[in-house]
Amino acid sequence: MTSDDALTVVVAAHNESEALPILHPRIAAALDQLQAVESRVLYIDDGSSDGTWQLLQALAASDPRVSLLRLSRNFGKEAALTAGLDHVDRGAVLILDADGQDPPELIPQFVAKWREGYDDVHGTRTLRDGDSWLKRTTAHGFYRLIGRLSKTPVPADTGDFRLLSPRSLAGLKQLRERHRFMKGLFGWVGYNQVAIPYQRQPRVAGTSKFSLWTLWNFALEGITSFSTAPLRVATYVGLVTALVAFAYAIWIVLKALLWSDPVAGWPTMMVVILFLGGVQLIALGLIGEYLGRLYEESKQRPLYLVDAWRPAAGVSSAQMAVEGVGDAYGTPAARVENV
Ligand code: UDP
Ligand code: MG
Repeated sequence: MTSDDALTVVVAAHNESEALPILHPRIAAALDQLQAVESRVLYIDDGSSDGTWQLLQALAASDPRVSLLRLSRNFGKEAALTAGLDHVDRGAVLILDADGQDPPELIPQFVAKWREGYDDVHGTRTLRDGDSWLKRTTAHGFYRLIGRLSKTPVPADTGDFRLLSPRSLAGLKQLRERHRFMKGLFGWVGYNQVAIPYQRQPRVAGTSKFSLWTLWNFALEGITSFSTAPLRVATYVGLVTALVAFAYAIWIVLKALLWSDPVAGWPTMMVVILFLGGVQLIALGLIGEYLGRLYEESKQRPLYLVDAWRPAAGVSSAQMAVEGVGDAYGTPAARVENV
């Protein structure tokens, strides 16, 4: 076996102590079926407060394939996944939700596609049984919108359930931006992509961590991280408004000169003032969104901090030298002592 014949299943978990005991045996069973691939599992505890870490430690004690990583607090799924991917030192990775919505039983199919030469094998949801009507329609609308706005391809109805080949993973690790819209980042990496249709299951236990408001913010994140189209919209709205205003000005002047009717109506004036004020505020808000993101990026903070790193036997305990990560930990020895 070469170092490329390894597969690590990466699972970010935030307060998933109910779901993980159901999920792990399913992952283990799927990995047992893999031939000629050295398989591992890496769980990232994203600042859980419900005993997830204790549970994960028990899992690691009973299964030598399991590595554990705990972040210093809840950093959010995207950062937790990034932390996990940074700690995979070789082979391919497969990203899975902790709640069983992405069925681990499909792992052998994903691996088969990777073996055929694909670099990015992603699960595309045909059915979202586990999600509400509102979530399904808003998600659908979002994928259509981002698909039109973004120059980077973002496959529709595709979440984070995917396998990345070693070179795709290496590519992804180089993207160190703070605002992480993972679906877009995967698309940016490129290489040979293939979709595997699957039915999204309901959560096996626990509740979703994503409210509609978080999803809305997530959508904003996606659009502003991968497209500057809204800024251009502001330009065009401004242009059109200026043209209309110009035509209207000519009309007022002509009216005053030809029919000596100098005083325009109060309602017209109010409408014009309010309209222009509104357009300006929207444009300012848009610029603010981008400026805010620029500010966040310019701070160059690490994407996450590690509290504990417990590599399984055979996994390198050293941290990959990835820019923007190294400083965050202290020395590798200090990290292992933390456990
Ligand atoms: N998650 C995480 N950090 C967070 C929120 C969620 O690691 O701050 C994980 C969570 O444990 C799960 C995955 O991200 O494994 C997806 O979360 P969830 O099921 O709540 O989202 P949904 O499927 O409803 O979009
Ligand atoms: Mg879920």
